[in-house]
Amino acid sequence: MAAMQIEQLRSALRGVIIQPGDDSYEPARRVYNGMIDKRPGLIVRCVDVADVIAAVDYARTNNLLTAIRGGGHNGGGLGTCDDGLVIDLSTMKGVRVDQAKRTVRVAGGALWGEVDHATHPFGLAVPSGFVSSTGVGGLTLGGGIGYLTRACGLTIDNLLSADVVLADGSVVTADADHHADLFWALRGGGGNFGVVTSFEFRAYPVRTLYAGPTFWPLEQTTEVMAVYRDFILRAPESVNGFFAFLTIPPTPMFPESLHLRKVCGVMWACTGPAAEAAEATKPMRSVGKPLLDHQAEMPLPAVNSLFDPLYPAGMQWYWRADFVRELSDEAIGRHAQHGAALPSMHSTMHLYAIDGAAHRVGRSDTAFSYRDANWAEVIVGVDPDPANAGAITSWCKGYFDDLHPYSAGGAYVNFMMDEGQERVQASFRDNYDRLAAIKSKYDPANLFRVNQNIRPKGVVT
Ligand SMILES: Cc1cc2nc3c(=O)[nH]c(=O)nc-3n(C[C@H](O)[C@H](O)[C@H](O)COP(=O)(O)OP(=O)(O)OC[C@H]3O[C@@H](n4cnc5c(N)ncnc54)[C@H](O)[C@@H]3O)c2cc1C
Repeated sequence: MAAMQIEQLRSALRGVIIQPGDDSYEPARRVYNGMIDKRPGLIVRCVDVADVIAAVDYARTNNLLTAIRGGGHNGGGLGTCDDGLVIDLSTMKGVRVDQAKRTVRVAGGALWGEVDHATHPFGLAVPSGFVSSTGVGGLTLGGGIGYLTRACGLTIDNLLSADVVLADGSVVTADADHHADLFWALRGGGGNFGVVTSFEFRAYPVRTLYAGPTFWPLEQTTEVMAVYRDFILRAPESVNGFFAFLTIPPTPMFPESLHLRKVCGVMWACTGPAAEAAEATKPMRSVGKPLLDHQAEMPLPAVNSLFDPLYPAGMQWYWRADFVRELSDEAIGRHAQHGAALPSMHSTMHLYAIDGAAHRVGRSDTAFSYRDANWAEVIVGVDPDPANAGAITSWCKGYFDDLHPYSAGGAYVNFMMDEGQERVQASFRDNYDRLAAIKSKYDPANLFRVNQNIRPKGVVT
């Protein structure tokens, strides 16, 4: 990239430019997934909206492949790119809580742990995910599935407005009354429409969750999964619990006798009084003979960060996903088979219930189309050692291929690798054409295409 042009860009910024050869380049180019090894030509670490405008103008004028990086957690590595320009929002972090209105304003590069930290003293929480190190930007724009989904809806169901730097460098605020088409597309359509520099969310008075796991031996998988299937969809919306295959980590949190044992389980996180949650979850916790059953009332930020130490940045990560409407006995049998073959201690399969409040939004009310699915299934191959990348990937693909015929067809965009256009279209179903029309209006040249890409009408690449 021409040195003079880069100097011009530098003089327009308050943030910094990082290039290959700079001391900070290596750490700055890395993203969460250690499998992703991309080398951008230019990283623009923005500190404010003016910096983002300058970076977008520079990328457009120079016709550069452009990635937007929020928290850098995308499994497929969509927060970076080879050769092109990364608009890095990682230093744009402010969170402002409006206690009276129960709304929260969050800068585009914040992480969910930072939001939890800021809202908790007010006794408030924004529905997010299951770990705290994920970026607000990517998680929100794809939908946002987490512990509060059944009680409060997806993260996008609680998005009130967003400030967006568009591909032409202009800035708009999208909400229900302004740029309503863009606001619709942002709620599930990913980073296709511009750089979101600020999100405004509705918050809920949730200070604690009644949380903790129930684990069963793998031999009981079929019974446990079959009961879970019926139990969770009939449970009060205050009850949340995702089903998982996992290996119990060797930490003091668990009895030594269970360390490294492969199990199936449900990780509970319920709102409302602890006694009610204990009573409501009892029928499921009493199935068969659990190896461990322990829940307690915990601060919400603690629950949201329980898995953070187990999944630090830099591990090899390969995942595949699907939405699931019905969990047949046959599918359960196949899950039991693959779940017993977890290829590493960190590998796992999760089934997240996405009914309850998330079902009260229609399938064309937001870009997130699978409102009729009951679960988001994600099969995750993870290992710290790059030598095991092949093993975790092939386990994950084999498991996915076997279960995909039982799925609803498409997947949650935030749990996908780079899987091609057909899969992207399958995820948006009937909403795809409307998204493509909105993309044509706001980003006709497809400047923002390092994402699960919605192509503007008439654009092929
Ligand atoms: C350990 C782990 C746990 C996860 N847990 C959950 C979970 O509980 N629930 C859930 O729903 N998902 C979860 N995810 C998936 C997560 O939502 C996606 O990986 C998401 O893309 C991460 O967002 P990010 O901002 O960190 O990612 P990045 O890699 O920075 O960006 C991902 C995509 O979002 C776009 N983007 C990011 N920020 C912006 C912005 N401000 N403006 C415009 N576009 C932007 C980027 O262009 C890119 O296409 C998890 C992922 C990991 C790795």
